[in-house]
Amino acid sequence: MSFDVDVIRAQFPILSREINGYPLTYLDNAASAQKPQAVIDALTAQMSGAYANVHRGLHTMANETTDAYEGARAKVAAFLGAPKPRNIVFTKGASEAINLVAYGLSHLISEGDEIIVTQMEHHSNIVPWHFLRERHGAILKFVPVLDNGALDLDTLKSMLSSRTKIVSITHMSNVLGTINPIKEIAPWVKATGAFFMADGSQAAVHLPVNVNDLGVDYYCMTGHKLYGPTGIGALYGTTAALEKLAPYNGGGEMIEDVYETHVSYADPPHKFEAGTPPILEAIGLGAAIDWYRQYNPAEVHQHEMAVYHHALDGLRGINSFRLIGEAPEKGSVLSFNLEGAHAHDVAQILDKYGIAVRAGQHCTQPLMVRFGVHSTARASFGIYNTLDEAERLVEGVKKAAHFLS
Ligand SMILES: *Cc1c(COP(=O)(O)O)cnc(C)c1O
Repeated sequence: MSFDVDVIRAQFPILSREINGYPLTYLDNAASAQKPQAVIDALTAQMSGAYANVHRGLHTMANETTDAYEGARAKVAAFLGAPKPRNIVFTKGASEAINLVAYGLSHLISEGDEIIVTQMEHHSNIVPWHFLRERHGAILKFVPVLDNGALDLDTLKSMLSSRTKIVSITHMSNVLGTINPIKEIAPWVKATGAFFMADGSQAAVHLPVNVNDLGVDYYCMTGHKLYGPTGIGALYGTTAALEKLAPYNGGGEMIEDVYETHVSYADPPHKFEAGTPPILEAIGLGAAIDWYRQYNPAEVHQHEMAVYHHALDGLRGINSFRLIGEAPEKGSVLSFNLEGAHAHDVAQILDKYGIAVRAGQHCTQPLMVRFGVHSTARASFGIYNTLDEAERLVEGVKKAAHFLS
């Protein structure tokens, strides 16, 4: 389908809302994205037409619901370029996917083993690894970020050694917008024998992703940022990498047999999906992927970057404006500060004009420390944002700069 932002906007009922008497300008997409009618309809249709628990029934609706749920898994697999649906584990979100990997590999980690992350990681890709540091004596190392927001690849290379057990890096930063060269890094990590994970929470929304091509062992994404429901995400793993993971939660559906004396587990991915899964959410994610895949990812990226650059060009005219994150490879995330003003105050003033941006640490405290800031304001652009909205942001920030100076 050709890219027409007005046609896209018309599919999002919430975008016709007003806030404080102004049309909603929703620029908080890196935190969570709005939902198109196709996703809303898919959830309603499943709840009103065919709903039952999955995998255990012999009745018609149990089979229909199972087909829809497993069909959603196949859609995620195709979307990420995974070889088979069984390479996809449904999780609650990206956070749970990373926790699953960290917990699942913990039996292979002992005192002095090294885990490498970067200074630009989301807390979701830091804290689960701290657990391995606290509980197993692992050493957690952070790859530095350069002044322009790019990853220091030379230092990353020099940090890798036979002691490295796991490397986990974001594919795209939720604050800097930096797109990391995962495919280039993969062979360096593989040469050490370590596991390689990439966090695709942002990248899967803004870039074409092919996990096979990237050469990762694990990759995760989260549904609510991809125009889908909350409560659903996915972990991709190669067959070999999933087999290394110890099961995370125990319960129904993840077992083969349960006796008083022992238990045996189902094969992946079911081994990692204990209990009744988020059935409707998974089906909603499948609908979001169907909807999103109508568009050419290169065109989406181009559109989002045009809006980003339009906003940035205007904001650069404000004296106190400071951009954080200027890596040559970056996506449509614009983090900034107004010198002498608190980011929260900037966000509150923008809200008066119906403009939704985020202000704070964005779950990236080590990155805030790296850049010597307490917080930033962040405008993040999605598929439905327009050049007009970029101009509204610039006008709003000009007013904030005026009030707060
Ligand atoms: C949002 C985000 C996460 C966490 O996703 P959840 O949906 O909250 O689990 C992890 N990493 C990055 C880069 C993110 O942007």
